[in-house]
Amino acid sequence: MSLNTQILIAAILGVLFGFILTVFPDTAFFSASLYGVSIASSVFIGLLKMILVPLIFTSIVVGVSNLQSGGQLSRTWKITLMCCVTTTTLALILGLTCAHLFGVGKGVDIVMFQDAMSQHQTPDTLTPSSFFTNFIQNTLINPFKAFSEGNVLAVVVFALFIGVALVAGGEKFTTVRKISHQLFEIMMLMIGWIMKIAPIGIFALLAKLVATEDVSVLSRLAEFAAVVTGTTIFHGLVVLPLLLWVFGKMNPLTFFKGTRSALITAFATSSSSATMPLSMKCAQENLGVRPQTVGFVIPLGTQLNMDGTALYEAAAALFIANLMGLDLTLGQQLVVCATAMIASLGAPGIPSAGMVTMIMVLQSVGLPAEAIAILLPIDRLLDTVRTVVNVQGDMMISVVVDRYTRKAELNSEAS
Ligand code: ASP
Repeated sequence: MSLNTQILIAAILGVLFGFILTVFPDTAFFSASLYGVSIASSVFIGLLKMILVPLIFTSIVVGVSNLQSGGQLSRTWKITLMCCVTTTTLALILGLTCAHLFGVGKGVDIVMFQDAMSQHQTPDTLTPSSFFTNFIQNTLINPFKAFSEGNVLAVVVFALFIGVALVAGGEKFTTVRKISHQLFEIMMLMIGWIMKIAPIGIFALLAKLVATEDVSVLSRLAEFAAVVTGTTIFHGLVVLPLLLWVFGKMNPLTFFKGTRSALITAFATSSSSATMPLSMKCAQENLGVRPQTVGFVIPLGTQLNMDGTALYEAAAALFIANLMGLDLTLGQQLVVCATAMIASLGAPGIPSAGMVTMIMVLQSVGLPAEAIAILLPIDRLLDTVRTVVNVQGDMMISVVVDRYTRKAELNSEAS
């Protein structure tokens, strides 16, 4: 049985087992099973986290240093950036439009959230300017500190510098380039080993998620959850495939077939960073994207390109405003869009990261940060779908970027 099929079966069995567990709460069977699935999911996630920083570093160094010829580096950069901004903007517009269309949060009795609101502790104020200051302070730091603390964004920046330096140095740094390549191949080999236990990890993660969510609280927010989930799925099933078809000239079915295992892993882990090894593998081996494009676009996209998160944050801000009985002006909605874009850039690819940066979006239009308490109970659930779309966007962009850079190279070779 292929790994894809094993992962799919494990996902279904995991959800079923989670539901079975909810039938026997407060029993020895429940706690023993929960302990078992917690251990299994920790091992799987731990292994992925272990490999994350060295993988990101080597893949970006290799990706950038491979972009040798003339304008290739700046071309790849530009196309990647353009794709990220376009897809995220579309996601933001879609999120706000659907939240408006379905009137999420309108006419809801805010009293029912008072409990959650009073229990919530207000996090530190996060304004856009302080966010930027934090962003710079946390990004331009000693690389060894960044490595040891797992500060992925700082590692990305340092890897970009090294990659560019390798390109600038040319022949002089052939040995370092070769070593980076080999280190990267070693990482890919280790990922192959880790993926062998992916079905067990995914079974455990989903069983734990279903068994521990508070279903009664979830039902309160069902409408909002349904709208956000539906809109995110629409973005993933209609908008992104359409862009892929038009600009990447790839049949969406081929794309989904080739990326299925990465998408399911994203769903189960709620972490684009944890899924990144698999996204790279799928893009390279199943979609035929060249290694230098994969090594550049996917690690960068994992950090910076999050359509699902942006869509969620914009819709959630409107939801909260509606709950409070506030009508956001068009200008305020534009502020929401701009901050949600920055917030999605700054959110690391880990579970519920969007929840943290959400505070900034709420505060940008004067909504209380406490309101995230309303969203917390459903966040883990919504995180699953938005992470799938985040990961899908990265792989899709790698296809588009690869097509355009390949074409440009052929043209420059011909002329
Ligand atoms: N979990 C998401 C991801 O890893 C980030 C988020 O919380 O929105 O892509």
